[in-house]
Amino acid sequence: MGRVCSEVQEWVEEQIEQPVEEFVGQWQEVCEEQDCNWWCLCCNKWFCWLAWVVVRVVTWVLVTVGKWVTRVVCEVVNVILDIIGFIFTLILSIPIIGGIIRTILNWVTEIIWRLVGLIDFLASLVGIRPRKKMYFGVVVPSIGGTPIAPDSEVMRQVNATISFYDTTCNINMIFTGICHTDIEPPGGSLNVACDAEGFFNDWLVAGSYFEFSSALCKFRDSFRRIIGLGAELIVFVVQEITPTTTNGCSFGSTHNYVVIEARRGDQDFVTAHEIGHSCWLPHDGTPGNLMNAATPATAPTLTNVQISLVRWSKHCVYI
Ligand SMILES: [Zn+2]
Repeated sequence: MGRVCSEVQEWVEEQIEQPVEEFVGQWQEVCEEQDCNWWCLCCNKWFCWLAWVVVRVVTWVLVTVGKWVTRVVCEVVNVILDIIGFIFTLILSIPIIGGIIRTILNWVTEIIWRLVGLIDFLASLVGIRPRKKMYFGVVVPSIGGTPIAPDSEVMRQVNATISFYDTTCNINMIFTGICHTDIEPPGGSLNVACDAEGFFNDWLVAGSYFEFSSALCKFRDSFRRIIGLGAELIVFVVQEITPTTTNGCSFGSTHNYVVIEARRGDQDFVTAHEIGHSCWLPHDGTPGNLMNAATPATAPTLTNVQISLVRWSKHCVYI
């Protein structure tokens, strides 16, 4: 959640600090270029400079102090919220009971935020799509001390996802980094079933593993993970997904993570495809569509309705 603080600070610097600097700069030019009124010993110029100094000092103090007070208060509040969220996540990591609460919570928050965002969804359908943002990060488990996928491979997926949602949906995909986790997966390997078995497995230790390792990796997402709004999507790299024809899996709003196989050949859009599922996109048989079950290798597309569904997701926010 704390990420929003640095974003607010950047906004203040761009939208307030810079225009104020420009205004003070223009004032300076006016003072420099003014002709002296010799009858009062150049008093007009003196007044101009005096006022300029006062304005410069006052605006600097206001903007600088305001900016840092806001930042500090924002950071403190967010750390407290993230600690509360993290403790709650530990409860959600308990097998069975935590798993069931997690599933219900994730679907309920999704439905609530979709109801809240209904007007935005309708606006998107008619083409009104101001820029939104969506956080996503990657977790690469290490098994036997070695990461199961190299960072360079992961970054191909990341870059394809960022550019795809940027150009297609006007969404700023904010990548929060690759996290290597050393937590030993249950049974020592990461095989995920992408069917009913996988869904119910998520309530057992397998789901606890995903929940707990993503909570440790992405502490700054703790509070958003609980309230759902703007919750980060975690892309978990796993060794094997069954059935063997699939190389990624998502259970829609059931969790905040999707899984992709470490070995995907040259299919760079698997992550973008799975993120589509987690935002309620079903498969689409149209050739070239991102949601085609055989994910397109190059330049995928989305329909107007699909774009609007993604933008309507609880993960996709303005603030
Ligand atoms: Zn799919």
